[in-house]
Amino acid sequence: MFTHHTTRGIILRKKKLREADEIITLFTRDFGKTEVIGRSIRKGNSKLKMNTSLFSLVEASFVEGRAGNTLTDAAVIADFREAKKDLGKLSLFYRIAEEVFLLCPREEKEKDVFLLLLESFLKIEKEKLTKKELKVFFCLFSFRFLYFLGYKLYIEKCAFCGESVRGECHFNPEEGGVVCRSCFSLKPPSRINIYLEDVNLLRSFLKPGEKKDFVQDPGLFMDILKSYLAFVPEGESFLDKGLNKNN
Ligand SMILES: [Zn+2]
Repeated sequence: MFTHHTTRGIILRKKKLREADEIITLFTRDFGKTEVIGRSIRKGNSKLKMNTSLFSLVEASFVEGRAGNTLTDAAVIADFREAKKDLGKLSLFYRIAEEVFLLCPREEKEKDVFLLLLESFLKIEKEKLTKKELKVFFCLFSFRFLYFLGYKLYIEKCAFCGESVRGECHFNPEEGGVVCRSCFSLKPPSRINIYLEDVNLLRSFLKPGEKKDFVQDPGLFMDILKSYLAFVPEGESFLDKGLNKNN
């Protein structure tokens, strides 16, 4: 028996298969990360080929079979054309897509991740972003994405003693988040420790829904993100393949 599905999704990755086929990985609204095979899609100028450009939002129909999903139809809903003309924005698309591709388990229904991805792509298309803002944007996306995947950080209280933290503290992903000054002084310094002058900066950054003006220094958040990713499955491979490559 074959089952037909139609859903919306953003195209994260495309990979050549055999002579004319292609494996297309989408992040879909209904099925999470999903692979479909475009059969003979690289031959000629088929409608399927034209409607499956990388990083587009499409409505895709596919048939679920024993040998995988076969793409049967695709219609473009948004192609984020303006953003793709901008080299900085295009590389942000690559980074985000690679992060989701590597870190998100396959076919786990993550509606929150789909909405975050869509909202982010729409924002990247619409907003004017400087080089610095592009980096902050990536950190913001990543922290929320990791949160939705279940990697929650303790940022309200010290991850070690549970006491409230005010002002200066340290960030240590080994402990699961923020560590207060006194707990930190009890432990030998760790190579992944990051000193934070103001814990509220990190809290404001991690709070979903809060409007950001992108004025923060991306360097600090990039350091936090990198040490955080080192503790997430596949995070290390993303650091090697996707993040450190062009940073
Ligand atoms: Zn403490």
